[in-house]
Amino acid sequence: MAYLTLKNTSLKKYNSLGLNVQAAQLYLPLDSQGLLEVLELTKTTKRILIGKGCNILLTREYYDESYAFIITTMEDDLVLTETELIADAGVNLSRLAWFALEQSLGGYAFLEDIPGTVGGALIMNAGQYEFSFGQLVNWIDLYDTTTNTLSRIIPDKDYFTYRQSKISSHEIVIRAGLKTEPGNDEETLTAILKYKKDRYLKQPRKYPNAGSVFKRPYKEGQSYYVWKLFDEVELRGHQIGDAQVSEKHPGFIVNCGNAKPQDMVDLVKECQKRVKEHFDIDLELEWKVID
Ligand SMILES: Cc1cc2nc3c(=O)[nH]c(=O)nc-3n(C[C@H](O)[C@H](O)[C@H](O)COP(=O)(O)OP(=O)(O)OC[C@H]3O[C@@H](n4cnc5c(N)ncnc54)[C@H](O)[C@@H]3O)c2cc1C
Repeated sequence: MAYLTLKNTSLKKYNSLGLNVQAAQLYLPLDSQGLLEVLELTKTTKRILIGKGCNILLTREYYDESYAFIITTMEDDLVLTETELIADAGVNLSRLAWFALEQSLGGYAFLEDIPGTVGGALIMNAGQYEFSFGQLVNWIDLYDTTTNTLSRIIPDKDYFTYRQSKISSHEIVIRAGLKTEPGNDEETLTAILKYKKDRYLKQPRKYPNAGSVFKRPYKEGQSYYVWKLFDEVELRGHQIGDAQVSEKHPGFIVNCGNAKPQDMVDLVKECQKRVKEHFDIDLELEWKVID
C-alpha cells in the first residue's frame, strides 16, 4: 500500500491561502503506483487533486465523505534520460528548476519562484512573461476517471493557452516527459536570481496567498492590468473579515489572519462587481474553486 490516509483533518497546510477548513478523507500517495491505487480506491467519490494548493480556493468549511482529497507532493520522482526529463505530477517546480540547472539544461529558470507542482503547472499552464509550462512538454501520462484507463498524450500546438490547458476535469496527471535543451549555467543562475528578486519585491510575501486572483482581462482587443483597475476603484487594501486585497500588490488577495472561505468568496465577488460597474469588464478567476 503506497499511500497514507488521514481522516477528519485540517486542509490548512494543503492550500497556500492557509484556509483552516476540514476534510473527512485525505490521501497522500507515496509514488505513482500509490496514486493509481488511491484513484482505484476512490472510484465512487468526488476526487480533488491537489499539488501544493497554490492556485485553489476552498469554499467549504467542511468537505464530507463524498470528497476524497488527494495530495500529490510525495509522488515526486524526477529522472533525466538521454532525451528528456521525466517528472511525476508531484514534483515541486522550484526543485525542477534547480535540477535542470544542475544538469546544465536551459528553459526552466522561470519556474523557480512559481510555487506549485508539475501537475498543477500542467493544468494551469503556469508561467510568467513569455514563458509557460506547456512549452516544455513532450508528453503527459493521464488517468481518465471516466474509463479508469491510463494513456499517454502528445499535446498539439493549441493544447496550452494562457493559464489553461486542454486537460479536462476528469483527467488526472500522473507524470510528464519534458524537453531538454542545453543551457548556459551562468545565464540560468542569473535569470533565477533576477526573477526571485523582482517577484519578492513586487509580491506580498508576508501573508498567505494563492498568486494572481484573476486572469488579465481583455476588452475590445486591449489588455488591462488587474491591479491598475483595482486602484481606480479603491480596492487596494479593501478587506472582508481577514481576506484582504493586498496593500502591496492588489492583483493578490491575502489571508491576513484567520480568513474564512466565505470572506474570500465575498471579496472576490466585490472585486468583480466594482470592475464590472466601473469599466464593464468581466474578471475571470485564475484560481480554481473547490466547491
Ligand atoms: C506567491 C505566488 C505566486 C504565484 N505566481 C505565479 C506565476 O507567476 N505564474 C503562474 O502561472 N502562477 C503563479 N501562481 C499560481 C500557482 O503557483 C500555479 O498555478 C501553480 O501551477 C499551481 O500548482 P499547484 O501544484 O499548487 O496546483 P494546485 O493549486 O494544487 O492545483 C491547481 C489545479 O490543478 C489541479 N491539479 C493539481 N494536480 C493535479 C494532477 N496531478 N492531476 C489533475 N489535476 C491536478 C487541481 O485540482 C486544481 O484544479 C503563484 C502562486 C503564489 C502563491
